[in-house]
Amino acid sequence: MSAEVVAPVDAGSDRFVARPVRYCEICSFPYEYCEYGSSLSRCKANLEAKDPEQFRQLYSDEALEDKLKSLTTEQVESLERESAKKERKAAAKAEKERAQLAASKIVLSRVARTKRKVITCIHGLHQFSPPMPALKVIAKGLSSRFATGASVTQSVQHPGVDEIHIQGDVAHELVTLIVQRTKPFDAMPSEADGGVLEKNIVIDEKAK
Ligand SMILES: [Zn+2]
Repeated sequence: MSAEVVAPVDAGSDRFVARPVRYCEICSFPYEYCEYGSSLSRCKANLEAKDPEQFRQLYSDEALEDKLKSLTTEQVESLERESAKKERKAAAKAEKERAQLAASKIVLSRVARTKRKVITCIHGLHQFSPPMPALKVIAKGLSSRFATGASVTQSVQHPGVDEIHIQGDVAHELVTLIVQRTKPFDAMPSEADGGVLEKNIVIDEKAK
């Protein structure tokens, strides 16, 4: 996210005029405060690519030297340790989340309502949010794609968790739509971004 507080900048008198505060797209702190976040390496790489001038002002040898002059060696070392520790923690957390997501499953099951009426139930999409679109939006999209009824309903086996019910047996079509990010799944994160993989989708044949 990026935002700018717009204020007139007069190069000749910048001691008296508020300069625009610019926020880091990675950690969301103002660029000057990235070191207090948990992603300094990524913040620096991002800033260097986006705004080499600002990067130089904050991280060039001279800028760092100026800053260090006011700190003791011990303070410097402790700051560096803190920063490295925060990054390791954040990396471990991200890795754990990735592993959890990889183990999550979307279960597509067929439920016979009467002898001739079958519904397909999509359970587990919620694990892959955010940034998933709302289940209601997906249900509506599926309803028009398959020209059939689709609704969001609370799961019987997992109270409090919503799932989508679609009229008809469309489990195999659904796998293709999800894996290929075809509408209404087009807003789902890609596989490269840690989104759903084919192995995360199970067709529950028992329920047939
Ligand atoms: Zn940052």
